[in-house]
Amino acid sequence: MDCIFCKIIKGEIPSEKVYENDNVYAFKDISPEAKHHILFIPKEHIDSANEINESNAKLVSDVFIAIQKVAKDIGFAEGGYRIVNNCNDDGGQTVHHIHFHVIGGEKLGWPPFPVK
Ligand code: AMP
Ligand code: ZN
Repeated sequence: MDCIFCKIIKGEIPSEKVYENDNVYAFKDISPEAKHHILFIPKEHIDSANEINESNAKLVSDVFIAIQKVAKDIGFAEGGYRIVNNCNDDGGQTVHHIHFHVIGGEKLGWPPFPVK
């Protein structure tokens, strides 16, 4: 499978690693939208949020536990942050390995508007 995030996990494409455990890998987004912009991915390939099921749900909860840990360790958990998952084309998903953008370290705007 030609998946750039699987290649990042395997070290075939370089990344700025922020955190790693048995099931989760986190790295800096190459095009940051805020002071902190980190991508969290399960090491096992899941295409999108549409493919979360009973068998792989623990990987997703492991991602959320990792997010909380990293946010606390870096120091933006208390101030707050946003977790974003873009699903498929209308959601703006460009890399089809499920990933959670964690954006924080400064005040964020809301809401995200539809493209007109
Ligand atoms: P999405 O549009 O939700 O699929 O998000 C994909 C994200 O991956 C974008 O924010 C990109 O900036 C980021 N991205 C793409 N390639 C890389 C890479 N090689 N290293 C780090 N981030 C990347
Ligand atoms: Zn993948």
